[in-house]
Amino acid sequence: MDFSLSPRCQELQTQLTQFMDDHVYPAESVYEEQLAASGDPHSHPPIMEDLKAEARGRGLWNLFLPHKTEWTDGLSNVDYAPLAEIMGRSPIASEACNCSAPDTGNMEILTMFGTPEQQERWLQPLLEGEIRSAFAMTEPAVASSDATTIECSIRRDGDDYVINGHKWFISGAMHPRCQVLIVMGKTDPDAPPHRQQSMVLVPMDAPGVTVLRNMLVFGYDDAEGHVEMTFEDVRVPVANLLGEEGGGFAIAQARLGPGRIHHCMRTIGAAERALELLCRRAHARSPFGKPLAEQGVVQTWVADARINIDQARFYTFYAAWLMDTAGNKAARNEISGIKVAVPNMALRVIDDAMQVHGAMGVSQDTPLARMFGWIRALRFADGPDEVHRLSIARRELRRWAP
Ligand SMILES: Cc1cc2nc3c(=O)[nH]c(=O)nc-3n(C[C@H](O)[C@H](O)[C@H](O)COP(=O)(O)OP(=O)(O)OC[C@H]3O[C@@H](n4cnc5c(N)ncnc54)[C@H](O)[C@@H]3O)c2cc1C
Repeated sequence: MDFSLSPRCQELQTQLTQFMDDHVYPAESVYEEQLAASGDPHSHPPIMEDLKAEARGRGLWNLFLPHKTEWTDGLSNVDYAPLAEIMGRSPIASEACNCSAPDTGNMEILTMFGTPEQQERWLQPLLEGEIRSAFAMTEPAVASSDATTIECSIRRDGDDYVINGHKWFISGAMHPRCQVLIVMGKTDPDAPPHRQQSMVLVPMDAPGVTVLRNMLVFGYDDAEGHVEMTFEDVRVPVANLLGEEGGGFAIAQARLGPGRIHHCMRTIGAAERALELLCRRAHARSPFGKPLAEQGVVQTWVADARINIDQARFYTFYAAWLMDTAGNKAARNEISGIKVAVPNMALRVIDDAMQVHGAMGVSQDTPLARMFGWIRALRFADGPDEVHRLSIARRELRRWAP
C-alpha cells in the first residue's frame, strides 16, 4: 500500500487551500446574506457563479471524475480524497468546484452508462456547471433502504416510457438550475428482484412532474432542497433509458460506491473544521479563571478527535486505494465500513465542538449546528448504518460458516 500523494495531487492541494482561504471562507457569509436577501430559500446566490468562475480559472474543476475521458484527465480516488476533504470544510466549496452531490454520482454514471446523445444533452452541461441534477429513488410508501421494494412504475408504451410514482427526499431538486432527474423505478415487476428496476432520465420540466414540498432537515430548509414529488403519466422517449432495461440495480451499485466515499472524504473535512473551531474557542474562553484549553476534559475531547479523525481518514484512504487498485466491487466492504465509521466519528467531534462554544454552538453564528444536522442525515442518505453493517456482517459470517 502506498499512501504517498502524487505530485499533481499535492499541487492541487496547495491551490485548493489557497482558493478556500482567498475566496470560499470569505464568501460563506455573503452566500447566506444573498440567500436571505432574495426572499427565496432556494434561490441561487450570485456569489456562487463568481466562485465557480474563479475555481475554473484556477483549474479546480471536476476534480471528482476518476475516469480519464475527453472531458477530464481523471484523478485516482486516493488523489481525490484529500481534495474532497478540503472542499468538505465548507458547505459551498464543492458546488464552487463542480464537485457536489448528487451531481458527481450522476455525472459518473452518465460517463459510464450514458449514450453519446445523453452525454451531449445532459453530461456536457453538467460538467460545464451550467445545470444541476437529482437522483430519485426513495419513496414515502416503502422501506427504501431495501431498493427492491421501490414501487415507481416505468412502463414501456410504444417509443416512450410512462412513469408513475411518488418520491421524497430527492436532494438537489429545488435548485433553480436542476434540469434533469435520474429516476429509478420498475420496468418489469415480474422479473427476479434485482432485475426489475431501471433508470431513466426525466427532464425536470416534463409534464406530470410535480414538486409537492421541500423536506426540512432538523428544521433547516437546505437551499438545494430534499423534495417530495410525484410523477403522473410522465412520458419520456425510450432513448432516455440509462444502460439496459433491468439494469437499474446494478447502476445504483456503481453510483453509490463513489458517491459514498465522496461523502466520507468531505465529512472528514467537516470534522477537521469542527476541531479547528473547537480549539480556537477553547483558547479564547476562560470560565472559572483559566482557558477551556487547559481543562483536562477539553484536552481529552481534542485528543480523541485527532485520533478518531486520523483513523477515519486512513480507513477512507484504504477504501480509496482498494477502489483504485482492485475496483469498486472489491472495495464494497470498506466503502460500507467508512460509510458507518466516518459520519459517526464526525458527529462526535462536532458535538464536542458545539459544547465548547456554549449556546453559540447551536446557533447560526458557527457552521457547527447545520453541519451536525447534515451529517446526522448522512447516517440515512446513501444507505442507513444498519444496512451497511448488515452487508459487512453477512460477508464476515459467511467466511466462518460451518
Ligand atoms: C437529507 C437526506 C437526503 C437524501 N437524499 C436522497 C436523494 O437525493 N435521493 C434519494 O433517492 N434518496 C435520498 N434520501 C433518502 C435515503 O436514501 C433514505 O432515507 C434511505 O435509503 C433509507 O430509506 P427510508 O428512509 O425509506 O428508511 P427505511 O427503509 O424505512 O428504514 C428505516 C430504518 O430501518 C432501519 N433498518 C433498515 N434495514 C435494517 C436492517 N437490515 N436491520 C436493522 N435495521 C434496519 C434503519 O435504521 C433505517 O434507518 C435522502 C435522505 C436524507 C435524510
